[in-house]
Amino acid sequence: MTAVAARAPAKVNVHLGVGPLRPDGFHELQTVYLAVSLFDTVTVGPGDGLALTVTGEGTGAARGADLVPTDRRNLVWRAAELLAGSAGVSADATIEIAKSIPAAAGLAGGSADAAAALVALDALWGTRASRDDLVALAAQLGSDVPFSLVGGVALGSGRGEQLTPVLARTRWHWVLGIAGEGLSTPAVYGELDRLRAAGRLPGGEQPPAAEPVIAALRTGQTTLLASTLANDLQAPALALRPDLARGLRAATEAGAAAALVSGSGPTVAALAGDEQDAVRLTAELAGAGVFRTVRAVHGPVPGARLVG
Ligand code: ATP
Repeated sequence: MTAVAARAPAKVNVHLGVGPLRPDGFHELQTVYLAVSLFDTVTVGPGDGLALTVTGEGTGAARGADLVPTDRRNLVWRAAELLAGSAGVSADATIEIAKSIPAAAGLAGGSADAAAALVALDALWGTRASRDDLVALAAQLGSDVPFSLVGGVALGSGRGEQLTPVLARTRWHWVLGIAGEGLSTPAVYGELDRLRAAGRLPGGEQPPAAEPVIAALRTGQTTLLASTLANDLQAPALALRPDLARGLRAATEAGAAAALVSGSGPTVAALAGDEQDAVRLTAELAGAGVFRTVRAVHGPVPGARLVG
């Protein structure tokens, strides 16, 4: 069989409510994921064992050090071994990841790559896994991987991997302000725990409920969505990276309906009124000089799919 390619989207959390730390080391979450139109593509072909190359965002001399590993530490490598193991085939493939989603940006880039790899390798190897099988494998790889597979808009509970689809007919426009340096997700959760233990941030027995944002998504009204966006990881991300406040301020000063930190950051997601407004905001934020890159995106978009 010749090469097969699949692509998967980045996500923005329009609600990220973080509950207490569970005995297994994860936090109980109530989150609403929105898949947005920034995609990584994973191309797979016949091979002898696994060989992985990565191009694009997070790679190359321009970024100083490569952020994205090309060995077992890459989530795609683990996805390949997991699918091969569960299907009883040997893990033979050349895998090429073309990254547009910046690494360690709170956009679930690694999860997108793993989801795309599952879809592409299933086709290459003819393992014919059902969507449910792939979702179950995805949950073993990481909390955000099932959503990268499913896409659209979904409520995530548990550690984010238990998904309920959310009806959303509106296309929302966002501008992503991407910082020069990534943030480690475990470090941001660690800072949240520290600030809560010190009594500097509230933390209840239950994660804050997602209903207000789900209701706002249903109305299609930008102002309502803007007033319900919430992210419990924003305060700890700001504590670790105070300069993020400049990015949030730049977005609201440029006229965004709202701006919040995406996931564990440091990407700033600015909500635009419509597509034209997003184009205007993109130009303004690119000129503000507070971000490395500024990208206009829309969502919801579908999850991991074969392409070409
Ligand atoms: P989250 O899913 O928590 O929002 P994130 O989007 O902030 O995560 P990722 O881009 O998924 O971050 O990467 C986090 C770390 O995972 C990176 O620093 C990198 O070392 C490792 N990693 C493993 N595989 C990949 C991959 N395919 N792409 C990017 N990072 C990867």
